[in-house]
Amino acid sequence: MSSLGLYVHLPFCPYICPYCDFAKWPMRRSAASRYLEALYAEIDAQPAEPAKTIFFGGGTPNAYSADEIAALLARLRATYDVHGSVSETTIEINPELVAPGDFERYVAAGITRVSIGVQSFDPAEIKTLGRKHTPEQIRAAVEGARAAGIASISLDLIFAVPGQTLASWERSLRAAIDLGVDHISTYGLTIEEGTPYERWYEREPSSFFDDASEADLYDRAIAILEEAGFEHYEISNFAKPGHRSEHNANYWRNGEYAGLGVGAASYRGGERSVHTRELNAYVDAALERKPIPAQSERLAANKAWGEGIMLALRTAQGVGLSEFKERYGVDLEEYYARVITRYVDAGLLEIDGGRMRLTRRGKFLANDVCGAFVTFE
Ligand code: SF4
Repeated sequence: MSSLGLYVHLPFCPYICPYCDFAKWPMRRSAASRYLEALYAEIDAQPAEPAKTIFFGGGTPNAYSADEIAALLARLRATYDVHGSVSETTIEINPELVAPGDFERYVAAGITRVSIGVQSFDPAEIKTLGRKHTPEQIRAAVEGARAAGIASISLDLIFAVPGQTLASWERSLRAAIDLGVDHISTYGLTIEEGTPYERWYEREPSSFFDDASEADLYDRAIAILEEAGFEHYEISNFAKPGHRSEHNANYWRNGEYAGLGVGAASYRGGERSVHTRELNAYVDAALERKPIPAQSERLAANKAWGEGIMLALRTAQGVGLSEFKERYGVDLEEYYARVITRYVDAGLLEIDGGRMRLTRRGKFLANDVCGAFVTFE
């Protein structure tokens, strides 16, 4: 049975948020139409093969009309939904772009899950983040998706936004819970190179959260969401029973995925590759039926093990020691003994019942712990 995850990048946005470093461009109709043609050309060049999940990410995928998305999904399904192999199809959306009838159109096309870019319910924080929606539009989007029969509704929230307080963060979390969504992702704000936020941070570092205060916000999120019946199944992700993201679970299992579109990443047969992030270079190559410019690397065996551990440690079930041995032929406890001892002694890692996991404290320092496995020689 296939476990291939298919990612499709739709890079246009109605406006550009000052903290964002994704491959994205302001929405212009002519560029967006040409991009869609390029995507069709890229899809047509692929052999048919079964995928398990399809994920429209961005950018802002619903900067395209629901009819355009439905037509694109039909073309993708002709290639990738072999004998009904696809069991989850997600689209990321911005709430203020939802038009009447969009969700009904999505459901008819086969979309089963929407992930709504909310970030905050607090009007001042929404403004600081450069987003343009209102709390009312978030509510309307969730209710519209539910009424149309979207099976799983997820919201993204950001913490450590300048000006945020523990109380305003709690209000956003509770507003999300009260809407009855099935899944919530919470991300700590990161300051990305080359963004307006980076310049802001250089000018006024005191406007931003330090690590300890950011950890308090994260800790609060875990407590509130778990109490509300969400399972903390991955560092940044919380789901009601039966609503984990299958598409992302495949990444965390270090499973294979294929990416279509500008800047999209793939991992196939031990090789990782990333398409060019230059929009014109992507579009021209696809339309001329030439190979998409990409960077690729074949991971050395121990690098692949380290990455497998890093990804699995992000999840609640952690790394299964015997599964690891079976998959990679390596005794994890023996090979990584030094790293394991260091972090178990520091109270960040635990081995229990044949599985290695981050402790609650380890989740706050996940990057350090995971990084040690990735860089271990
Ligand atoms: S955060 Fe999302 S909506 Fe904002 S610019 Fe980036 S991709 Fe576009």
